[in-house]
Amino acid sequence: MKIAIIGAGAMGSLFGGLLVEAGHSVKLFDIWAEHVRAINDKGLKIERDGNTRTVKVRAFTNKEDMGFSDLVIVFVKSNHTGNAAETAKDILSEKGFMLTLQNGMGNADIIAGIIAPERVIAGTTSHGATLLSPGRIRHAGAGPTVIGLWDGGDHSGVKPVAEALTRAGIATDCNTQIRQVVWEKLLVNVGINAITALTGIKNGQILDLAITRKLSEDAVTEAMGVANALGIEVRKDAVAHVLAIAKATAANRSSMGQDVDNRRVTEIDAINGAVVKMAAEAGVPTPVNSTLTALVQTLQAHYEEP
Ligand code: NAD
Repeated sequence: MKIAIIGAGAMGSLFGGLLVEAGHSVKLFDIWAEHVRAINDKGLKIERDGNTRTVKVRAFTNKEDMGFSDLVIVFVKSNHTGNAAETAKDILSEKGFMLTLQNGMGNADIIAGIIAPERVIAGTTSHGATLLSPGRIRHAGAGPTVIGLWDGGDHSGVKPVAEALTRAGIATDCNTQIRQVVWEKLLVNVGINAITALTGIKNGQILDLAITRKLSEDAVTEAMGVANALGIEVRKDAVAHVLAIAKATAANRSSMGQDVDNRRVTEIDAINGAVVKMAAEAGVPTPVNSTLTALVQTLQAHYEEP
């Protein structure tokens, strides 16, 4: 399978590297020239459990060099999804599929608005990766990946994609209820990310004080109300599930926490902000998510100021 990855940061490089090792023809595309140069000059370095291996993979900053691919995977941060989808439109073969495993809500809809909706596969992944320096990433953890056709309909195109990922060591299941799957991952991010980003705490510290735990529970409960109003059936024990994830990942700093620590724009608009936006459309009040969104937006808007 000819595969292109748009956004070759931590996750894009990880998936690209694993797919090359499984024998696929992979091209990486990124706007970060220094990273692309390092991959082409010295190979992509993947660190795992203290060992580093080098994978030979081609990387590009110019979409004209990308040719056409049967599968285009988008792994930019959610605020760049529109740009990535515009690039993808020009490099996706006629019968190809786009895949997004990005966090947050709205990415698949943005892509479906630019590419034909029946070509958009969405999902979630529990793999974790960190970008260490140009050309070098750490594979931080492995776990299940779940994918499905975003618009429902004929799922026959999803299975070969799941098989290709699974053969590359990314164990992947197909699920016809993919909106529910993406919503349930969103609930985890809603309950953990903004709170840890705003306070500087690690995931597990959400459980230390009753008042912090309640804030997380309220954010998740509100978001569940929005899901229900939109006709999405999320797991009934979502609040307990989110707290269990906070406990299981106790020593981790959430991705939004890391973004704030490094003065990067966060994915707040696709997480708590997406809940607020969908709630407005559904006529559901979301004061907790509105407040968390406003605070993170304020914080990231003032990074450069002393
Ligand atoms: P990252 O910041 O490491 O990588 C994003 C890359 O996209 C960067 O290299 C950047 O230069 C590139 N980029 C930005 N705009 C672009 C454009 N228009 N065209 C091409 N490239 C562009 O981010 P990441 O940690 O790999 O996360 C990517 C997505 O995956 C996010 O939605 C994140 O929430 C999700 N995710 C991350 C993890 C993780 O462990 N890192 C796990 C699961 C899901």
